[in-house]
Order: sequence, then C-alpha cells, then structure tokens
Amino acid sequence: MSTCTTPDCENPTDLYLCGQCVSDLQQWIDQIPLLVENLPAVVYRISQTKPIGSMRSNGGDADLSPINLDALQLQTNLQMVDREASSYAPMEDAAKQAWLIVEWVQKADLLVNGPEPEWVNHREVRERIENQAPPMPTRQLIPWLRKNAKISIKGKDIRNWAARGKLQPVERVGQPTYWPHEVLAVHRETKGE
Ligand SMILES: [Zn+2]
Repeated sequence: MSTCTTPDCENPTDLYLCGQCVSDLQQWIDQIPLLVENLPAVVYRISQTKPIGSMRSNGGDADLSPINLDALQLQTNLQMVDREASSYAPMEDAAKQAWLIVEWVQKADLLVNGPEPEWVNHREVRERIENQAPPMPTRQLIPWLRKNAKISIKGKDIRNWAARGKLQPVERVGQPTYWPHEVLAVHRETKGE
C-alpha cells in the first residue's frame, strides 16, 4: 500500500491513482463525447466564416476557410482517450495522463462553449450550491466548483485561505473538508480586494 500519485492527493492506494482520483477523472472523461461531437464546428468555423450560400457559389474550392489547428489537435487528442478512468490507475504515469486529459477537456470546453459568460447568475449558482453541496475535501471541491460554479480555484489558494483563517474547515480530522459556498464567498472577497 502506498499513496496516490496525483499531486496534492495523499490517499492510500495499491495503484497509481486512488479511487477518488479515478472517479474525478471519469467525470472529465464523461465530457469528452459531447466535446468531440462539437469540435468540428470549431475546427472549420462553420458558424462564423461562411455566409449562407457561399459554399456552393463557385464549385467550392475558392472559398477555403482557414481551419483551427488547435481545435483539430484537441479533437485528435480527445479521440485517443478511449478507455475508462479506472484503466489508467495501474499505469505508472497515470497522474500525468490524467493531468493531460483534464487540460484537453478544459481547452476543448473553452473552444466549444466559450469563456464563462459575464452574465452568469452568481446568486442563483450560490443558492443552488448552498442548498445542495455538502462539505468536501479540496481535491473533490476543485473539480466540483469548476463544473458547478464555473470557477477555477487552486488547491493552494484554499490551503492559504485556511491557513490565514479566512476559511474554516468543517472536518479537521484526516483530510479537511470545506463548505463549497464558503469557499466561493472567500473567492469573491479575494477577487474584490
Ligand atoms: Zn488520489
């Protein structure tokens, strides 16, 4: 028995990824099919550069739009992710693979869905989070907030806030847990500083 190889995770495991990191990774992998389906529109910029009718105005070739090579590369990378998260756990470089997959999914999500819109209803998000989300350890909280509040917070920030007394852990034995809405509140406060 040793510990998980994900940076910041010290869960015991016999493999290279612990059960929690496997299930976090699976959540990212689950987003891939929809992204792969939507990336071609970004690659060929179908919605942006082609006025209606231009495609058949002159037999085709003269109207070659540049393609988005970054999007194409991401599509290729994501298509190579063809296994379940659990099958990475026995691999020595599992943590690195997982890190890459998260990178690709985040980049592809940005290309397909655009940046976080300014008009996100933060109050609604906040209420939803207060009502539904239990306290979580950092490693679970970070992907959760990214997904549900569309906010990227680093584990380092949470540890700093806790060390400075801005954030109180709910559970102090073992891995500390935090209320997601409290983490969001400190995040808002810090951004406003
Ligand atoms: Zn882990």
